[in-house]
This record gives sequence, C-alpha cells and structure tokens, in this order.
Amino acid sequence: MVRPVLPLFRPLLPQPIPIARSIHTSPRILLATPTGGSRNPFAPRTGPKHLTPGPVKTPNPRETTTANANSEGSRHEGEVSTSGGSSISSSSPASQYPDYSKGPSALDKASQLFFFTEIVRGMWIVLEQFFRPPYTIMYPFEKGPLSPRFRGEHALRRYPNGEERCIACKLCEAICPAQAITIESEAREDGSRRTTRYDLDMTKCIYCGFCQEACPVDAIVETQNAEYSTETREELLYNKEKLLSNGDRAEAEIAANLQADHFYR
Ligand code: SF4
Ligand code: SF4
Repeated sequence: MVRPVLPLFRPLLPQPIPIARSIHTSPRILLATPTGGSRNPFAPRTGPKHLTPGPVKTPNPRETTTANANSEGSRHEGEVSTSGGSSISSSSPASQYPDYSKGPSALDKASQLFFFTEIVRGMWIVLEQFFRPPYTIMYPFEKGPLSPRFRGEHALRRYPNGEERCIACKLCEAICPAQAITIESEAREDGSRRTTRYDLDMTKCIYCGFCQEACPVDAIVETQNAEYSTETREELLYNKEKLLSNGDRAEAEIAANLQADHFYR
C-alpha cells in the first residue's frame, strides 16, 4: 500500500542543485581582470606582457550581454576591446566558461545547505527502497523467466506418430564448430535414411545453436533445461537414446518455443 504512494511526494521535495553550478564561483569572478588575466586558478596566465598585436575580431554578443549586466565586467571588457586590435577579445577567460548566471541564487544554495535538503532527499530514496520488493529470488525454489531462444540441453525430436525426425543429412555435424556431433547412418528397408548413431559430446559443445539452425526438419533442438550438471564427464557424452528421451520429455515446451520464435526463423 505504501510503495505506490511514495513517489507521488517526490516532486514536493526541493530539487537538487547541479554539482557543476554549486562548486563554481559567480560569473563576476570569472571575468577578465584589469591585467588581462583571470582570478580563476585553473585559467592560463595571460598578462599584458604576453599580448601580441593581431587582427580585430568581432566581439561575442554573449560576452557583451554578460559584461553589460555587470558594471565592473563592462569596464574591463571596454578596456580590452579598445586596446588597438589586441587578441584579448578572442582569448578572454569569460568565453571559456558557460554562463552560470541563470543558476540558483546564493540564498537558494544557503537554504538548501542549512536545512539539509540533500540528506532529506537521500533518506527519502532509502525509504522508497525499503518498501520495494527485493530483486533477488530464492533459486532453485524460485526461477526467473527464460527466453524462447534460450539454448540449453540438447534433444532429438519425434513426429506425433513416434517416428524420429532426423533424416541423417549430417548438416548439424558439418556445421558444428566444436565438432561435438558424430553421426552414422544407413538406409532402412523402406528406403528412408535414418541414423544408427547420434553422439553429442556436451563437454565440447559451446551452445552456439548452429546445429538447431541448420537442421531442415527441426530434429535437433536446444531445450530450456540448464540443470543437467553431472558428477562424471562420461555422463555428458550423450547418445541417440539419451537425446530422444530428452525430446520426449520436453516436446510440449519445445513446440511452444518454436511456435513463439517462428516469425524470426
Ligand atoms: S550448439 Fe553449436 S557447438 Fe553445440 S552441438 Fe550444436 S553446433 Fe555444436
Ligand atoms: S539432426 Fe537435423 S541436421 Fe542433424 S542429421 Fe538429423 S536432420 Fe540433419
């Protein structure tokens, strides 16, 4: 009940001051000094002895506006612009900094400082998080959602009449970059071709999904089962019977995932 209501009160809190504005001094200090330098300690030193005559440049209207708003700055700017074509106008320190005159006033800063508004805003966020449900889950008792394209344990599928889908074309064996698939085949009495051996070394597999993509009859697929860890390596050497049993167990899930993903295949 409390959680949906808390964010509604957030706009009522004082808005934070951007750090870049709060740490800088007023624009008046950033204007050029009578000696042509700057009171900003990080600004390059450009005293009169470093000035060299150069072409007269058009003054920046933004600097002019700032200079008119401040009588002291206006006097300095006037000195610079009438110094006989000096290059000070283009290298004025005021042009190197953004205009902070539109930021919060000193009274706003002082009130936010003395009333601990930043601490109040921080504690408000803590209060919101306190009533929010946790992001963690109690695995393995709880499980998160899985994509229909999740590539987990392999399986071989059958048709609804029980006939295995694989036609022993060996495309999956050819495309497997890890060479994890080994297939042997022979023709049946009815002329159809089927596998007599389908081995898959799960310790080699890199779960790229190429075998599933290459299969023309959707026989080899990767299921959403990722919980098949074993105690021995031999248990991860799957044969045809193991793969077919995986397919029989998860056929409904596999069919639903293929149906959900068929637009993109
Ligand atoms: S997922 Fe990739 S590495 Fe694994 S068997 Fe298929 S093709 Fe080979
Ligand atoms: S699983 Fe698919 S790609 Fe691999 S041999 Fe059988 S039909 Fe061909």
